Amino acid sequence: MTDTFEAKGKRKKLVEELRLKGIIDEDVLRAIDIVPRHLFMDPAFLSHAYVDKAFPLTSGQTISQPYTVAVQSSLLKVKKRDKILEIGTGSGYQAAILAAMGAKVYTIERHRELFVKAQRTLTSLGYSADFFYGDGYEGKPQYGPYDGIIITAAAQEIPVALLQQLKTGGRLVIPIGSSSSQVMTVVIRTGEESFEHTEHGNFIFVPMLKGTVNG
Ligand code: SAH
Repeated sequence: MTDTFEAKGKRKKLVEELRLKGIIDEDVLRAIDIVPRHLFMDPAFLSHAYVDKAFPLTSGQTISQPYTVAVQSSLLKVKKRDKILEIGTGSGYQAAILAAMGAKVYTIERHRELFVKAQRTLTSLGYSADFFYGDGYEGKPQYGPYDGIIITAAAQEIPVALLQQLKTGGRLVIPIGSSSSQVMTVVIRTGEESFEHTEHGNFIFVPMLKGTVNG
């Protein structure tokens, strides 16, 4: 798999578009500039890779819109060597962005096919992350606590198990709402049992579902 001069040029334009849309975190923009998004999609869709839109993957799932990836990554306030847990690996693009920002990434996917493919993609690009096949509702307590947890699927409510896996000062970034629209929510763990919520606009994700799909 290779990056191309043309794709690099398209990424620079995408970064400028994201700046105009209000993304100001330079570390996030740098990661979007260097991670070749087209290699996370079917090669037939190269022309779609650097348009600011979500795009279908296999198994009825989607690779998030670059703007959405940028917003969630900014809200996480990632610092180098932060431990970040992602629920909903999908293509692995968001995981690669976090890895490119220097985070230690743990990511869970409930579709076996996507889990296998994403792992292959990141490895071939030289990004490291720990991949898990399973239901992300329970998180991964054995590797926590985390500086940040990011959910890239629509949740109806905050999974309590995930809050318990945040460090004090850690941030959970989660789209909460119905299947048609969700509010991007940040929950900061301010103490052992105290949490602060803030809201950051409306988004649309595929649903966060229980159980696994072995295919
Ligand atoms: N972050 C992805 C976008 C993923 S779309 C990317 O960068 O491409 C949402 C993903 O969440 C889908 O792949 C879906 O299968 C997965 N998902 C939904 N509910 C889940 C759960 N309970 N545990 C783990 N993954 C889940």
